Amino acid sequence: MKPLAAAALLAALVPAATFGQSAPSASTGPSARPGHESRDDDCGHPPAAAEARHRTDGHPRDRMDLSPAEAAAVERRLNRILDGLGPGKHGSSKGAGQRRAAQITIPVYFHVIHAGAKGNVSDAMIERQISTLNTSYGGGNGGADAHVSFTLKAVSRTDNAAWFGDPERYEGTYKPRLHKGGKSTLNLYSTYIGGDLLGWSTFPWKYKSDPQMDGVTVHYASMPGGSIENFNKGFSATHEVGHWMGLYHTFQDGCSGEGDRVADTPAERDPTNGCPSFKDTCPVPGEDPVHNYMDYSYDTCMTSFTPGQGTRIHNVWTAYRA
Ligand SMILES: [Zn+2]
Repeated sequence: MKPLAAAALLAALVPAATFGQSAPSASTGPSARPGHESRDDDCGHPPAAAEARHRTDGHPRDRMDLSPAEAAAVERRLNRILDGLGPGKHGSSKGAGQRRAAQITIPVYFHVIHAGAKGNVSDAMIERQISTLNTSYGGGNGGADAHVSFTLKAVSRTDNAAWFGDPERYEGTYKPRLHKGGKSTLNLYSTYIGGDLLGWSTFPWKYKSDPQMDGVTVHYASMPGGSIENFNKGFSATHEVGHWMGLYHTFQDGCSGEGDRVADTPAERDPTNGCPSFKDTCPVPGEDPVHNYMDYSYDTCMTSFTPGQGTRIHNVWTAYRA
């Protein structure tokens, strides 16, 4: 991490807190990034510290990092819910492949936020994005079939230069107006995102307290055929939807602790930049999972989810979105 980059990010967070819109649904404060667990999990870490932790030199993709304490709190709650469902209803959230889950089919409402011609992505590009999600989660690029598929239900288009120019600031405005469906419906927003970010998401355990804010936002130019070099195969949406279904980054907790709670993704100390031919940053066995969708590698480097991630997706779905 470059200290300067982290400082810049911390500085960038201050205006968001100052100018944030007041959302009709008040449980996500204007300075709280979606998915951030500072409110519910009493971890005691200031949000900015956790968010800035894995700033990289390349595209940071998002700020969906949890501190070890935040992740531990999420896992305790998840396991309580799953244990409450009784034996046979789920596999261990830490293990891989105990249960062959049924297919999850997710209806998608796609919301295009644009400024005139800028960001007004074509229907064909949206279809390609949905297709990319299906290929990614079906194991079509490599790795495991996560048994998750996506069906486009409708597209909305909103010409709003203010929203397009600062979707983080206006998130509490556009989401409640555009959001459709319930906890098992994916609302996917495309817009411009500044600061080299490629997207962000909400975690499933946030749905109950703030259903209108549920969803995934991606940079329109990260969609298949978009203009962001090395990040234009549509895997930003794949990555963010992974968070939306409860996956952590593969570098969660670094080399120590419990990592991403998936047994078949080797621990890695920090996010991957580019596409290294060899990277092994932790003493535990296994090279870093640089080709995994939940790392920060180039889109051109990403190929796969693991069976353990598929199992976690289905367990979290059972607990929070089924
Ligand atoms: Zn992420």
